[in-house]
Amino acid sequence: MAEMVRSNTATRKEIDNTPNPVAEENLRNLCKFVLQPLRDHLGVPIRINSGYRCSELNEEIGGSKNSQHMEGRAADIDVPGYTPLEVANAIVELGLPFDQLIHEFRSWVHVSYDDDRDRRAQLTALKVNGKTQYINGLS
Ligand SMILES: [Zn+2]
Repeated sequence: MAEMVRSNTATRKEIDNTPNPVAEENLRNLCKFVLQPLRDHLGVPIRINSGYRCSELNEEIGGSKNSQHMEGRAADIDVPGYTPLEVANAIVELGLPFDQLIHEFRSWVHVSYDDDRDRRAQLTALKVNGKTQYINGLS
């Protein structure tokens, strides 16, 4: 839970990033159904660069208005020794449940879990002329 809630920006800006019980339950489910099975498969720890974001923190870092991070349903991860694309592909190949899986800027993987939504959306985010574009599929 500490890894899911920790944020350098929140610390710096003195934002209380404590999740409410619903968000905390969502974070637990994301770990239980996606991140822990992934970690068990890869055999190395997963780095969580951004997990839960209260709305104030999400706004501060310029996150999307409807970000699943604010519900505790999403994490931005990377795994030492694996490229982000390898990590994203592993999530698909393992058949793990996810709502959205985004290979972001060739730097990290955004993965969300929602027990009510299972879109299995797979996207690649790229910056084109300073603007974020989303392409279907993982590449
Ligand atoms: Zn994200």
